[in-house]
Amino acid sequence: MKVKCEKCKKRYELEKPKERNITDEIIEVYFICPLCDHEVHSFYKNKKAMRLMNKNGEYQKELKNTEDDNRRNLLLGKIRGNKFLIEKEQEVIEEQLNG
Ligand SMILES: [Zn+2]
Repeated sequence: MKVKCEKCKKRYELEKPKERNITDEIIEVYFICPLCDHEVHSFYKNKKAMRLMNKNGEYQKELKNTEDDNRRNLLLGKIRGNKFLIEKEQEVIEEQLNG
């Protein structure tokens, strides 16, 4: 995926995100422009959010291999529910960091 750097305004191929620990529990996911080293924040995650993201990864994988409509609907519902929980968790993290 190509993205435009907001600092040097050049386009570059987005590589794997980098991660760093902000606290013992919170990890920041970010990208670095290979052309000017400008850093772009992507999102924060903690253990709970990571667990939910992993679960959704598993559900997505199963979704690809499932043709049963009922099962698909169930999986889609679970993925949606987890996404909501992940967003909530990220709000909590932002509050922790800002407060
Ligand atoms: Zn740049």
